[in-house]
Amino acid sequence: MIYDLIIIGGGPAGSAAAVYASRKRLKTLFITSEFGGQSIVSEKIHNWIGTIEIAGSKLAEDLKNHVMANASDVLEIKEGLEVNGVIKNGETFKVKTKSGEEFETKTILITTGSGRRKLEAKNADKLEHKGLTYCATCDGPMFSDMDVAVIGGGNAAFESASQLLAYCKSVTLVSRSRNFRADEITVDKVSKNPKLKIITNSDILEIKGENFVEGMIIKDRATGEEKEIKVSGIFVEIGQIPNTDFVKDIIPLDKGGKIKIDPWTGKTETPGIWAAGDCTNILYHQNNIAAGDAVKALEDIYLAIHTK
Ligand SMILES: Cc1cc2nc3c(=O)[nH]c(=O)nc-3n(C[C@H](O)[C@H](O)[C@H](O)COP(=O)(O)OP(=O)(O)OC[C@H]3O[C@@H](n4cnc5c(N)ncnc54)[C@H](O)[C@@H]3O)c2cc1C
Repeated sequence: MIYDLIIIGGGPAGSAAAVYASRKRLKTLFITSEFGGQSIVSEKIHNWIGTIEIAGSKLAEDLKNHVMANASDVLEIKEGLEVNGVIKNGETFKVKTKSGEEFETKTILITTGSGRRKLEAKNADKLEHKGLTYCATCDGPMFSDMDVAVIGGGNAAFESASQLLAYCKSVTLVSRSRNFRADEITVDKVSKNPKLKIITNSDILEIKGENFVEGMIIKDRATGEEKEIKVSGIFVEIGQIPNTDFVKDIIPLDKGGKIKIDPWTGKTETPGIWAAGDCTNILYHQNNIAAGDAVKALEDIYLAIHTK
């Protein structure tokens, strides 16, 4: 059996494309490790259009329900499968999963999004979810009236610091470089808060704590001086890594590992493969944008299949 289309990834992008694919009666296989995508961890999302406020977990449930409601003789859904390879097979492609299954298709839409870049420091793994977290929006309120740290120097780091400053006793922002990647206006605004302390040009060597975070050891990159900072919570904001490793041999990626696409159509540089959402080199990463861009790509896939 050869599918018209295989969609890989079940966040807002993949789910939107699946609904459209079914309604356009493309013979589609939809494969995702899980439904919902990155904002599943958010306590509240306020900008999912048409919905004033929604928990990330409810958004995931809604996306799943919407896709499931469109399951049919043309849309087949496989949840819980991870794709680990795509190979060209003459005029078609073979999509391989970690569990050893293989599926054949004429076209592919990749919507595998991205994940957080993990902090590489001693004990960072051990104390993840035990005071070390990757989501200020989700976990911040648990650290009310405590001293916390934010690791990073981009917009996400400053925005997390800004949120935490509203209820934490103090926030220490530690950045690896001397200059921040964040917008000047954001840095200026957040830096005015007297509860914020900024340390630049420093590496995080170790997270301290037996069962829960108690502090961290940092090292000044210029002087080599090491010191311990006592904090109860550490929020890591050092960037995103696109989930594109499984296609790196078949699709050109940019230097950050993102799939290069034509923004008009979602076409990648490999004929027959489209991509949309956070796994691509588009500038802005939002649920609505991911969903809209995937629909745009789906329209183009439909046209490509029917005008071939
Ligand atoms: C904490 C947090 C809060 C956020 N809050 C907001 C917000 O309030 N508003 C907003 O608009 N945006 C928010 N965002 C950004 C938003 O979540 C992303 O822009 C959006 O999720 C991107 O959607 P996507 O479908 O491209 O990718 P993702 O949401 O990353 O979804 C990718 C999907 O692909 C699946 N997948 C990955 N690899 C594979 C594989 N190899 N095989 C099979 N399946 C795979 C994953 O399981 C997942 O279902 C937030 C992001 C984070 C991290």
